[in-house]
Amino acid sequence: MTGETYSLPMVALRGLTILPEEVRHFDVSREKSLQAIEEAVKNGQKLFVSAQKDLEIEEPGAEDVYLVGCVVTIRQVVKLPKKMSRVLVSGEVRASLVRMDSETPYLQATVVELPDDEVVSGEREEDDPMNREAMIRGLQDVFKEYLLKNPKLSKELGMQVESIHDLKYLTDVIAANMPFSFEDAQELLEETNVMRRYELLVYKIVNEIQAQKVKEEIQSKVKERVDKNQREYILREELKVIREELGDDNTMSDADEFQQAADALKASKEVKEKLNKEIKRFRNSMNSPAETGVIRTYIETMLEMPWDKTCKEHKDIAFARQVLDEDHYGLEKVKERVLEYLAVRALTKKGEAPIICLVGPPGTGKTSIAKSLSRALKKPYVRISLGGVRDEAEIRGHRKTYVGAMPGRIANGMKQAGVKNPLMLLDEIDKVSNDYKGDTFSALLEVLDGEQNNKFVDHYLEVPMDLSEVLFITTANSLQTIPRPLLDRMEVIEVTSYTENEKLHIAQEHLIPKQIEKHGLKADQLTISKNAIWKMARNYTKEAGVRQLERKIGDICRKSAMEILEKKKKSIHVTERNMEHYLGKELYSYQMANEEDEVGIVRGLAWTSVGGDTLQIEVNMMPGEGEILLTGQLGDVMKESARTGISYIRSVSKEHDITDDFFKKHDIHIHIPEGAVPKDGPSAGITMATAIMSAVTGRKVRADLAMTGEITLRGRVLPIGGLKEKLLAAKNAGMKTVLVPAKNERDVEEISTEITKGLEIKFVTHMNEVLKEALV
Ligand code: ADP
Repeated sequence: MTGETYSLPMVALRGLTILPEEVRHFDVSREKSLQAIEEAVKNGQKLFVSAQKDLEIEEPGAEDVYLVGCVVTIRQVVKLPKKMSRVLVSGEVRASLVRMDSETPYLQATVVELPDDEVVSGEREEDDPMNREAMIRGLQDVFKEYLLKNPKLSKELGMQVESIHDLKYLTDVIAANMPFSFEDAQELLEETNVMRRYELLVYKIVNEIQAQKVKEEIQSKVKERVDKNQREYILREELKVIREELGDDNTMSDADEFQQAADALKASKEVKEKLNKEIKRFRNSMNSPAETGVIRTYIETMLEMPWDKTCKEHKDIAFARQVLDEDHYGLEKVKERVLEYLAVRALTKKGEAPIICLVGPPGTGKTSIAKSLSRALKKPYVRISLGGVRDEAEIRGHRKTYVGAMPGRIANGMKQAGVKNPLMLLDEIDKVSNDYKGDTFSALLEVLDGEQNNKFVDHYLEVPMDLSEVLFITTANSLQTIPRPLLDRMEVIEVTSYTENEKLHIAQEHLIPKQIEKHGLKADQLTISKNAIWKMARNYTKEAGVRQLERKIGDICRKSAMEILEKKKKSIHVTERNMEHYLGKELYSYQMANEEDEVGIVRGLAWTSVGGDTLQIEVNMMPGEGEILLTGQLGDVMKESARTGISYIRSVSKEHDITDDFFKKHDIHIHIPEGAVPKDGPSAGITMATAIMSAVTGRKVRADLAMTGEITLRGRVLPIGGLKEKLLAAKNAGMKTVLVPAKNERDVEEISTEITKGLEIKFVTHMNEVLKEALV
């Protein structure tokens, strides 16, 4: 199907294709074009326009233009300066150049209209009205999406497009209004098939949208990057200003100060080199406040360490003795041992003398001895509590790479002391334990080992520190949990529990005056009678040392101070009778001897962390199948003692007229009541065996008799420890006779008569003797 053919003036367009339905203006300057327009205006305003293939050609002929162009109507011609005109045209219909009629004085061409190719067979999908509607909507939606991203295109256009229901017209309108390149427009112009033109258009618009999205993404990324740099720059500038405002603009001079201090520091070359390096890093880190902070802390710590600073060593043993005597009552042996140690230390080279370990129950003056020793030697005193330390890093420090890293306790202690030869008390060394985070003990070993500790390296400080001149003193409640290698480094000095008489003296001579002063009282304002002190020690406290006693005295002082102020009392006298007023009800009463002899109940003696205690062992026999039941506060060692006791008794059952199948037909139940303080240890062996024998034979046990001793399978009695505390407990409980292993005889001789007086101590070597004494 071909359209009308006619001859029209023609203009070749450069970089522009005009589509039907397009309204558009373009500028014309070429003489030929100007004349063609003039001619067209004269003859019905129609003009044929076609795009030039090569933009550079000045005088294009038929072969230099696209054959397919557009017939347009000229709407307006505006003359511009320099012989130029601006022409407003509207595209009418596609047309193809048939031939060039003339090329001068302007182009005149014969063209043939290209009608739209719309197949109306009804067989194709697009011809279905439903499909057409869907296609129209699809194109409208795509165009709307495009409009959203391109608000420059008018809103009216959107509305106009909404109202079009003809697919061909819609395609043309949208194509005419899209800002396509002239190549794209040319493609659309040449496509006479409406369906294909539709597809081409949708494809081009979607492409356009996609390209725009990519462009936006890139733009926003670029913007983000620019913003971030900008932000950092601004923040840094602000920081600078804030620093200036605060008068804190001295990061530079801090570094100089550090350098000065480092130069003046008395320390090894290694330390100084490390410091210089860090100061350099500090200078270079000024733009990163987090890093600056970390380095600053490190440098400050390093500068505070007593690398080569020492205090004078006082070696006056007589003065030391005087100080120790002044501060402590009793403890003769301990003081003597400490003074001996000082004498040896004064004579030997540093690092050779072993380390003192004061072992004993809490409150017996271990810390206090260390403190007065520091006074005696005029050395700075630092106490490092090791109780509960499980992590090696607590001793040796965290590596600097950790967030919030710190030096370990030893390095910290040295910093506190301020000299490299202080007295350092490592308190409760027996309470240290290992966990998965490394070996706490080996770290301690390194600290205490005279061969290694001149080069102790804290993980945080990273440079070796000399600990060889430190006077280490350690304390422990018991030696059991201290590993052997560590124990070997130490000279153990035992501090034992106090008797009531000693407690009385300590209270009168030390604790009471100390507490009175501490509470701002005067000596004549508060007096505490001797009996009151005794009562306090016996019924208000239960301990080997005097810590609780001191606290109770403190309580009395506080209450007295209040009464003196409030009730205007002149002075207060605390006696046994008005004690309750100051301390409330009695807290403890000793488990006294049973009134009567009984079957299956025996009084044993135990050593616990708070001193000695008596423990009553009960055994019951019941018909059964030979089971052994153990209940109460029994540790593993006690359980083994119980089994050993039973085996021994079974082995001697004939001698005691026990029938062969007795143990098969009876269950044995062993119980230890009253277990506030856990007790363990082998020393209840003979006690349990006696109780079992009593239960089995039905013979009663003496109520006023207590015993202690380990038992072997053959019934031999082995020696035990903690005799002093145990005898003390027996005496307090009102016992008359105590059975003690014969091997402990020498220990008894050392115990003061204050304790042994009134107690009948019988030495035993074998269970036979025990049973003879105990069973009635
Ligand atoms: P530990 O370190 O053995 O647990 P402390 O040294 O802390 O015990 O002693 C507790 C309190 O008892 C301290 O105030 C201490 O001065 C005092 N103290 C202990 N024993 C005596 C003593 N023999 N003479 C004077 N005061 C003592």
